[in-house]
Amino acid sequence: MNQATPSTTAPPAKPLPIPSELAQPFWDALRRNELHLQRCDSCGFFNHPPRICCPQCHGHALTWTKVEPRGTVYSYTIVHRPPVPAFKADVPYAAALVEIVGTNAKLLSNLIAPLDQLRIGMPVEVVFDPVNSNISLFRFRPQAADLTTESR
Ligand SMILES: [Zn+2]
Repeated sequence: MNQATPSTTAPPAKPLPIPSELAQPFWDALRRNELHLQRCDSCGFFNHPPRICCPQCHGHALTWTKVEPRGTVYSYTIVHRPPVPAFKADVPYAAALVEIVGTNAKLLSNLIAPLDQLRIGMPVEVVFDPVNSNISLFRFRPQAADLTTESR
């Protein structure tokens, strides 16, 4: 067995998204600290991830629409085992499926909150995290008014 020893001076880099042409407007909006979702012109359904046609009515007129960067926790889990070694220092952390306010869309990302305070229905807002000049990530955190006094 080849025993090549990896460098231990720095943790491995975290993988970054490689936006498809279809999803590029979503990532462009994040770089402007905005949340945009693809909406069907015919029936109003929000597509996420973006598609070439509406899954509800099969309409092809889809418009990128700015939405409010907040929502409520639909579901969540606490990750104890890092999916790749780059996330080893982050565990345990919360990953949440958030229903974006005023839409039917649910987005998945990290939920930055005390793990013992997570709950379904928790109001959250998007945090924009510029990683480099091409990619900004989005995460969620509790809306300020929802934090208990003990956690401040
Ligand atoms: Zn539609």
